[in-house]
Amino acid sequence: MDNLATYPELIPVFKDIETIIGKDTYDMWLRPTHFLYENTTLTLSLPNQFWAQTIRDRYERIIMDAFLKHLGVNITIIYEIQPQTPSVTPVPRPEVIIPKNPFSSRLNTSYTFDNFIESPSNRFAYKAAEAVVHKLGARENNPLVIYSSPGLGKTHLLHAIGNQILKEHPETKVLYMSGEEFVSEYIEALQNKEAESFRKKYRTLDCFLMDDIQFVSGKEACTLEFFNTFNALFESRKQIVLSSDRTPQQLEWDERLSSRLLSGIITEVKRPNLETRIAILRQKRDSINFDIGDDVLAFIAEGIQTNVRELEGSLFRLVAYCSMHSVVPTISIAKELLSDILVSTQDKSVNVNVIKKIVGKHFNIKMEDFNSKRKTQSVAWPRQIAMFLTTELTDLSLPEIGREFNRDHSTVVHARDVVKEKIETDPFFTAEINQIIAEVKAVDKP
Ligand code: ADP
Ligand code: MG
Repeated sequence: MDNLATYPELIPVFKDIETIIGKDTYDMWLRPTHFLYENTTLTLSLPNQFWAQTIRDRYERIIMDAFLKHLGVNITIIYEIQPQTPSVTPVPRPEVIIPKNPFSSRLNTSYTFDNFIESPSNRFAYKAAEAVVHKLGARENNPLVIYSSPGLGKTHLLHAIGNQILKEHPETKVLYMSGEEFVSEYIEALQNKEAESFRKKYRTLDCFLMDDIQFVSGKEACTLEFFNTFNALFESRKQIVLSSDRTPQQLEWDERLSSRLLSGIITEVKRPNLETRIAILRQKRDSINFDIGDDVLAFIAEGIQTNVRELEGSLFRLVAYCSMHSVVPTISIAKELLSDILVSTQDKSVNVNVIKKIVGKHFNIKMEDFNSKRKTQSVAWPRQIAMFLTTELTDLSLPEIGREFNRDHSTVVHARDVVKEKIETDPFFTAEINQIIAEVKAVDKP
């Protein structure tokens, strides 16, 4: 939107879009774009087809909704590829699910269950999300609270839930909203003395998907309004799905809300392992249909371990660069282009010996015991814990971990599973493990 200044009436529209899609994404795809707005037609002028496809697939709905919300118009978007690029083929229009009811759900239709890669790190959240769709409002799934650090798929899952509900039951009233939007709309409603209609709008929903609820917590009037909305929906057995970048316990709610939040399902999305990261990149590559080798994908996946948004942002950056310069993506181009964001495995991954040392200290066993054949419980259990932590905290493959402990990979799998099970059933043990993890990290990255 490089010429936005010539359309002052559109500034709030694009400000809103920026808030929804995030500043980084906006800076990357929309800010540099030149456009024309005339008679409810927005013409975007883009450097290449890939760019157009990305905006169409991912942000078109959001742009259209923002125009509708601010200006009350249903716009048409036209994508124009600037002539200096060789390919001027039209951008194919993907199938867009347009909800049959007139209610604006604010869903981004490009986030679905189909294009969400299921993995051990998100399996529980994924299953819970599916369960919500099929048993909307059931006590045992209500509310569903998904939390994780940023960029691990919470927003994607929330939209996937909404899209799937509308696909199966088009008449359902679903609303997706971020905590930030809730706060700003509530404040706006108060200023315009429209709090009552604000309230009504929420109370008629069948499913309320509220993203990033941490924005609401701590702001007193909004928290209260949110609490009331929550209660009204909850009591009439309407589904509530919430996401947060903190654990529910870390949010500053009053106690009644906290205990309600904790009464449904709370699930964490964890960081994806290497295989999952590669699978995600493959899927993104296939969805944009761009020729980029598995070796390059694996290289990116190794270098970005903590955030899927950064992972795919890097892929898109590489693709945008290569399509603009008409070159084939290679590892060396990726290395050069992404040097600011890639970390080497050595930097990020914890050292196995640090894990052994800290676990050894906790359980009072010697370093060599980890690799010895001794099977007494006092040694075998800490060894299993150390193996488990190595699967969690390093990017070593299972056979590699096996070698580090002088065992084969099936022993590692078994160790991982028994420790996991204990974690799931014993909160005291979980606390102990968290303590060990914190110590390992402190030693490894002082
Ligand atoms: P969060 O809301 O947790 O910050 P998002 O849902 O916005 O994260 O995810 C960031 C990006 O990563 C999105 O584009 C999303 O599609 C993608 N993503 C995250 N997890 C997965 C996954 N398991 N499979 C496919 N894409 C994913
Ligand atoms: Mg999000």
